[in-house]
Amino acid sequence: MKIIVMDLDGVICDSSHRAHLVPPEDQRHCNEAWHPFVAECVNDAPINAGLTMLNALLCTFPVFIITSRQENFSQQTGQWLEGRICGRQAPEIIYRSNDDHRPPAEFKRHAVRDLRAQGYEILFAIDDDPQIVEMYHHEKIATFQPVTRCSSVVLTP
Ligand SMILES: [Mg+2]
Repeated sequence: MKIIVMDLDGVICDSSHRAHLVPPEDQRHCNEAWHPFVAECVNDAPINAGLTMLNALLCTFPVFIITSRQENFSQQTGQWLEGRICGRQAPEIIYRSNDDHRPPAEFKRHAVRDLRAQGYEILFAIDDDPQIVEMYHHEKIATFQPVTRCSSVVLTP
């Protein structure tokens, strides 16, 4: 089955208001250190162009959202998307597990490899994080990168 892979933060969700909650550099490897930052996602403004693109794509192919948000924020994420999705089918969402401390690019690399192992053909991906765009390039996945950025990416050296 042909699918499209998409990101949330920095693509559909404007996280700029929670920039002050990005953990200090020496704690960013720790999953739990990100919880205050992710918990505030309920108050994100939508990035209208990204949301419009998601809704347009949902009319063509299944969309899998792969997000570095932990799965214990799935309810908040689902509520945020509810009412903003108007395609015929809702996107599938793949979350980071609560005990996954890998860097986002490593987590997403394994997620796309898992999808391919299940027989999915990834037509292209959309992500704002340069490290993830580079990883997708190595995985031979065509990728579109918006000019918008998640505040966690802006603050990462
Ligand atoms: Mg992102």
